[in-house]
Amino acid sequence: MSGSLTIVGLGPGAADQVTGAASEALAAATDIVGYGPYVDRVPERVGQQRHRTDNREEIDRARHALEMAAEGRRVAVVSSGDPGVFAMAAAVFEAVEMGEAAWRALDISVVPGISAMFAAASRLGAPLGHDFCAISLSDNLKPWDLVLKRLRAAAEGDFVIALYNAASKARPHHLGEAFSLLREIKGPDVPVIFATAISRADEAIEITTLGEADASRADMRTLVMIGSSATRLVERPGARPFVYTPRRIDG
Ligand code: SAH
Repeated sequence: MSGSLTIVGLGPGAADQVTGAASEALAAATDIVGYGPYVDRVPERVGQQRHRTDNREEIDRARHALEMAAEGRRVAVVSSGDPGVFAMAAAVFEAVEMGEAAWRALDISVVPGISAMFAAASRLGAPLGHDFCAISLSDNLKPWDLVLKRLRAAAEGDFVIALYNAASKARPHHLGEAFSLLREIKGPDVPVIFATAISRADEAIEITTLGEADASRADMRTLVMIGSSATRLVERPGARPFVYTPRRIDG
């Protein structure tokens, strides 16, 4: 049988948020490749080989997966959430573009997953009901100045902003700096949500405002959402408020 490479999204964490197509792709694979904690989320199958790698070796991991597919193996590369959102799919296509000509003839496909912003939004209500954007705060793969430029543009455009990679030990001050910049443009009253470990056992959600937001509430498992000027809360007795952004903005 000829080889194949499928880049599979595992969703935000819970087993019941893995799609049927993702489960089928994982079950059909001879090899599972990915960052260790993600590979660990894939149910073990007899005869299937597992290749756990460090999170920073994306391109090497992609090349290794392509080499195995070229040898005739059925390889599944796994990512959390959706594999096309700040994840492995782009690394695979970059490796294909830069790599051996024969790799372009391989059977390569992408299986989507539920991205963290959608998982978080579903817990809150409908915060992404109108125009929104997603920005990674990580400066591992781009200059911090570019992050600030995009944050400013997103705030001026009054988008709801989903911030991925909002915090890490290597960059403790970045989220605070992002909040300061956004506050200058959006003001203190827009809702801010810290959505941590969504769909997992230790899920935590905190709803606050840009004026009050404390950057230390975010860790590596947190998606931070910043509302637009239209985003609002629907208060409820004895329960967390719903957060939504209306579908309609009158001119
Ligand atoms: N491809 C992934 C994103 C990878 S970047 C996706 O589509 O979701 C990693 C970042 O995603 C984390 O730093 C965090 O900001 C976010 N994230 C991933 N899983 C999450 C979860 N279960 N809850 C909240 N945020 C999550």
